Amino acid sequence: MSSTIAPRQVTKLSPLVRRVTQDNPGPMTGSGTNTYLVGKESLFVIDPGENTDEHLDALMRAVDRTPVAGIAPSHAHPDHWPLAPRLAEALRTITFGFKAHNGYSPMSTLSDGEVVRGVGWSLKVLHTPGHVSDHLSYLLTEEKALFSGDHVMGWSTSVIARPDGSLNSYLASLERLVTMDIAVIYPAHGEPVYQARARIEELIAHRNLRTRQVLEALHAGLDTAPAIVRRIYTEIDPRLYPAAVQSVLAHLDALIQSGQVIIKHQSASPFLSIYALP
Ligand SMILES: [Zn+2]
Repeated sequence: MSSTIAPRQVTKLSPLVRRVTQDNPGPMTGSGTNTYLVGKESLFVIDPGENTDEHLDALMRAVDRTPVAGIAPSHAHPDHWPLAPRLAEALRTITFGFKAHNGYSPMSTLSDGEVVRGVGWSLKVLHTPGHVSDHLSYLLTEEKALFSGDHVMGWSTSVIARPDGSLNSYLASLERLVTMDIAVIYPAHGEPVYQARARIEELIAHRNLRTRQVLEALHAGLDTAPAIVRRIYTEIDPRLYPAAVQSVLAHLDALIQSGQVIIKHQSASPFLSIYALP
């Protein structure tokens, strides 16, 4: 279930973190895209969101006259990055990202382990591929707070957006976070997660369960992704059906990579490809 967060209001979440949620709720965005403003005397903007006048105005009001060190979408999906260039121009600052991707061209690229600093804050850059290949998360060292983008969501599991996303990368990125000292997760959609480790472990367990269910479905003779979805996702919002098929395909990809599943017939449409146990 998705919670409702009032759009365009500035919510102070901690001494260094404020949130402004975009008015774009939906089955894939929950209550909308959360834009985070980090810092007090100088700011960093994470996940500026979709390119709308309303959200631009809301962010400009929240920033007021404070200098902005940069703007960073967690990844180049259409509910995260498109406002970045316009906001950067309005605030006279620069855009960041892992790489040019999906139509987004960051002015400056960041790599894993780099640290971005402003007055009173430092953000450690973590490359967390899986949902998509260019996904970055940011760890605010001063508050042990992780800005997780769509890698860890507040209200749902992440979609593995094939072919750019990968379940094996997603799980490796989660396993890495489990070892870190994180007090709170601020996702791009939904409320803060204060039981950080428990939530990450839950997501890993959920994926392992799905992997077992996909293997069981194949054992039972189901051999296409839609047939497997119908068996596993018994109560699903029809709007999320394509996402469920993508998820099952991501599990099948990972099982093929590890030699536990083979493709019997590859179709141009992955919905029609036929899978089997080796
Ligand atoms: Zn996304």
